[in-house]
Amino acid sequence: MANMKEQIDILVKLQKIEIESDDVKSKLSSVSEKLDSFDAELKEFEQSVIDKKSLLDGLNKKYRSYDSEVQTNLDMIKKSQGRLVAVKTNREYQALLKEIEELKKKNSQSEDEMLLCLDSIDETEKNISVEKDEYSTLKEKVSSDKEIIMREVEHGKERLVKLKAEWSSISSKVKPELLKRYTMVGQRVKGTALASVKKSVCSGCNINLPPQMYNELQRCDSLEFCPNCQRIVYWEQS
Ligand SMILES: [Zn+2]
Repeated sequence: MANMKEQIDILVKLQKIEIESDDVKSKLSSVSEKLDSFDAELKEFEQSVIDKKSLLDGLNKKYRSYDSEVQTNLDMIKKSQGRLVAVKTNREYQALLKEIEELKKKNSQSEDEMLLCLDSIDETEKNISVEKDEYSTLKEKVSSDKEIIMREVEHGKERLVKLKAEWSSISSKVKPELLKRYTMVGQRVKGTALASVKKSVCSGCNINLPPQMYNELQRCDSLEFCPNCQRIVYWEQS
């Protein structure tokens, strides 16, 4: 295995490519989450405006119902007042006056309620208008953020294609058996298959390697594995 060092160097390059690819892929997958959260934020606003509009509808209905009640009572008051001149007894007269008085009292209460309604209507309309402004600001921000994100996605995808091509071309220089081994180690450790050794420490698991192994590594003529994490280890000059 005279060219073991050369082979390891190529594997190091492959691993770098794989690490970068994974990084790009995880960024790309976080993008859809980000986009979803934008949409959720917008929807929340939309729902809030819908809720306030239905509140406003309710208030307007309440106002109109008080208003029609007041109109009806006014008609009744008018009629009763008309009858006042025709009544024959004082008792009837007093009864009519009392009826008119009660209708007026009722109307005054309704008018108070109507004023409260108007205040609430005013406040709700203002809130809706503020929320609509905030919504359109948010919508603009979301759409420009989305544009930036989509550009990043494009770049990421392009980068992945490049990395894949690089990986293919570089991996063809590794002996198939070694490449297979490298892949298997990566699957077993569920991560990077290669770990550099600096100052006799495995960078994969941070343990000190036995001294005789360190000598083997410096000779670079055999494939060595970390006795602790089982990664392929290689000597890196520090
Ligand atoms: Zn290790």
